[in-house]
Amino acid sequence: MAEEFPFEISPMFEGERIRKNDMYVELSGPKSIGYELVRAKPMDEVEDGKFTLIGPDLSEMEEGSRYPLAMIYKIAGELVEEDLESIVERRNHDFQNYLQGLMHLNQRYDVWVRVSKDAIDKGLTSFEPVAKAIMMLFKNELPFIEKVEAIYVTDQAEIKKEMDNVKQIYRDRDDRTRNLHDEDVDTFYGCSLCQSFAPSNVCVITPDRISLCGAINWFDGRAAAKVDPEGPQFPIPKGDVIDEESGEYTGVNDIAKSLSNGEYDRIKLHSFFESPHTSCGCFEVVGFYIPEVDGIGWVDRDFTGTAPNGLPFSTMAGQTGGGKQVVGFLGVGINYFRSPKFIQSDGGWSRVVWMPKHLKDRVMDDIPDDVADKIATEDDAADLDSLKEFLDKKEHPIVERWEDEEEELEAEETSTQTTPAAAPTMMQMPVTATGAMPMMPISGNSGGVKVILKNAKITIDKVIVSKKNE
Ligand code: SF4
Repeated sequence: MAEEFPFEISPMFEGERIRKNDMYVELSGPKSIGYELVRAKPMDEVEDGKFTLIGPDLSEMEEGSRYPLAMIYKIAGELVEEDLESIVERRNHDFQNYLQGLMHLNQRYDVWVRVSKDAIDKGLTSFEPVAKAIMMLFKNELPFIEKVEAIYVTDQAEIKKEMDNVKQIYRDRDDRTRNLHDEDVDTFYGCSLCQSFAPSNVCVITPDRISLCGAINWFDGRAAAKVDPEGPQFPIPKGDVIDEESGEYTGVNDIAKSLSNGEYDRIKLHSFFESPHTSCGCFEVVGFYIPEVDGIGWVDRDFTGTAPNGLPFSTMAGQTGGGKQVVGFLGVGINYFRSPKFIQSDGGWSRVVWMPKHLKDRVMDDIPDDVADKIATEDDAADLDSLKEFLDKKEHPIVERWEDEEEELEAEETSTQTTPAAAPTMMQMPVTATGAMPMMPISGNSGGVKVILKNAKITIDKVIVSKKNE
């Protein structure tokens, strides 16, 4: 079947990266617009195998240019239901990457596709074979799909016209989990799709925690596991609650151990610092600890500047991804900001100090009123000094932590001066399950010192306390 296409099709092309110099055209992405959308339809509304293109085809595109792209698939089948739309949509990402010479990144209205010069040289002149290959893979790999039809749009006006409706569809999907919480269900769902590039990644999807990629919620996971028990989404029996606040469950820990090949044996679903959820690379937003203010910032893919720590999204994403538990960084899906359990074991919203303005605006309705205007954006704080100043001026709840830490430090200093034999304590350092100490300031308001100790054994033979001459 694959011979009829002007490209090879195989999962081995999944890791293919198309750099700017090798790219023929770029479609959608951060500097253009587009989306991918799957809609479940009645059987008589889908013409199986049909492809429609609205706008210019590949052969009419100029080399080195950028164009908008929307990819819409209508699916039908006896078992097809709305809950499966996100699951099928997510597979568009995999399957596009199976095509040699195509690179697909991200999801929903953040999709970003590149076609290589090599693919064009080998005879790819139209989107039709691309769409037909994807439809073939959908039917081969997702047997509940009996009919599928594809509509690709490269006409900017047409995409713009539909964008609000499409965003509303995504919002409606996300809203379905609002009234359902982790304590209401016995089963969570896992997804192993990202293990192809992040082998130790353990993706756990619960009513209160959407997937990192933002594309799969608890209902989607349930529907997928039901119709395709051998597929990448699978049930995770919740087991016993170990700690409700941080979201630690025996069932999740068991699956963490087996899926990560023993690399991790604890995952706390609503924790930022201690045994956090792993981060694959598809996350929509990266959270980053800012030791200088003892707070957490969040930055998403659409933010093109640098965060107050001087780093852009891409650098922090590189630090965070790969399926690791990285203390001090955390990848999440945007809808997790709407969860009432959002990093609740580390202070929730009262620990958030910075986020890009467009992201803050997007989730504004879910930020508690008493902290909403105290979270800085790039308009308020471009670096650490202005961030500190802003938080102080706005009386952000984090300022209380600075004061508490200072008091604790003063008390410690006093006690070490009056008790010469006492060893220094590190009460402010939350030690992780792996024995690593996350980055924390010794003094929250003093500029901070980063200390990272992994699997450390510390032996102190002697402590000398001497008076400091002013
Ligand atoms: S981020 Fe999680 S849910 Fe999304 S594709 Fe990857 S493994 Fe699956």
